[in-house]
Amino acid sequence: MDPLKVLGLEPGTSPDKARSQYMLLCKQYHPDKNSDEYAEQQFKEISNAYKQIEENPSLLDRSPGHFYSGRQGETFQVNLKITSGDLFFGRTRSVKYKRLASCKKCHGTGSKSMNTQICGMCKGSGIVKGSIFRVVRSDNQCPECAGVGVVIPRDDVCGYCKGATLLPETTLQKVKLDIGYRNGQILIYKDGGNDGPFRGSNGGLYVKLVLEGDRRTCIRDKVLHIEAEISPAQHMLGDKISVDVFGKAYVCNIKPLDKEVSIAAAGNPVKVALLVKWPELTDKSRKLYERILADEKKAMEASSGSSESVP
Ligand SMILES: [Zn+2]
Ligand SMILES: [Zn+2]
Repeated sequence: MDPLKVLGLEPGTSPDKARSQYMLLCKQYHPDKNSDEYAEQQFKEISNAYKQIEENPSLLDRSPGHFYSGRQGETFQVNLKITSGDLFFGRTRSVKYKRLASCKKCHGTGSKSMNTQICGMCKGSGIVKGSIFRVVRSDNQCPECAGVGVVIPRDDVCGYCKGATLLPETTLQKVKLDIGYRNGQILIYKDGGNDGPFRGSNGGLYVKLVLEGDRRTCIRDKVLHIEAEISPAQHMLGDKISVDVFGKAYVCNIKPLDKEVSIAAAGNPVKVALLVKWPELTDKSRKLYERILADEKKAMEASSGSSESVP
């Protein structure tokens, strides 16, 4: 696997920038911080890729010769809007996005003959040593091939992509969600980015999860936390109640004075915080409470009766 692709770096990235990108991904995928089952594997790949670059920083260069086999496509990020329910039930969601794909007519060569003709002026590197040309760009880009390293004879240019080799397309990436994923988490799909020009390798796709909707539900450490309202009588006596978990009803047995109960829904643990909802008094309930209060007072007098008589 190309280390640049694993880290989502463009050829020509500075070592400093490569390091900061590496640190960013480390934070995201460190096993101590990410309990996702794939995180450890991804963390290993990221570490290996950066080690290769540290040992051989020239991997970051746009090194001459690499262009013969095409350049690497661009890596980019898209956002995927999800809900807590998507995470909880481990749903598969799709993200629609635009990418550049190799032209189907010329198979990404840009030419009718599908031959790749290396630029004679720069020998395919896309770079020329300055001075001998009147107009020299600061990056010494080859003027013959505009830095691409490949030339297409005018009569051989593909009529479909006009020699661009890549054409925009809309595509779907399926994303299997998991209760362990968090808002803002980035998932890496190594070949989901743009195809490389002139049959180069694919860039990667980063999918950032953006959590939307219900703020009362919250998933922490793979446990869903929700709230359910109960009446004072249910709180005192216990009851069997129905709890809504993302639109599905689950039965939940509560014991007297419970403040929280645990249930399982769709194979995942759910903690239900029980909130006592105090109703408005009615004539009927007022009478009941008055009787309870009278009984409480009687009980208090009985237990403290002897101490009161002491002068
Ligand atoms: Zn050239
Ligand atoms: Zn074409």
